Amino acid sequence: MTSLHTLPIPSQTARPHEHAWVVDSRHPTSEGVVLYVRCVACGTHRVDLQAEPQRPPTALSAEIAV
Ligand SMILES: [Zn+2]
Repeated sequence: MTSLHTLPIPSQTARPHEHAWVVDSRHPTSEGVVLYVRCVACGTHRVDLQAEPQRPPTALSAEIAV
C-alpha cells in the first residue's frame, strides 16, 4: 500500500504580521491626500486618507489581500 504524503493546501500564505506599508501613489483631494499603500511583505493593498500633513493617515478602505 502506497501512502501518499499530501501536503495541506495553505489557505493563506501570508501570516498575520505587522504590515509594512509603502505608498504606491498619492492623490491630493479636497478631503486631504489619498494614499494608495501596499504591504511589501504580503502585497495587501489599502487606501489611506491623510487629512493633515502632520498627522498619521487613517485607513479609508479595508485591507485588500491579493
Ligand atoms: Zn502585510
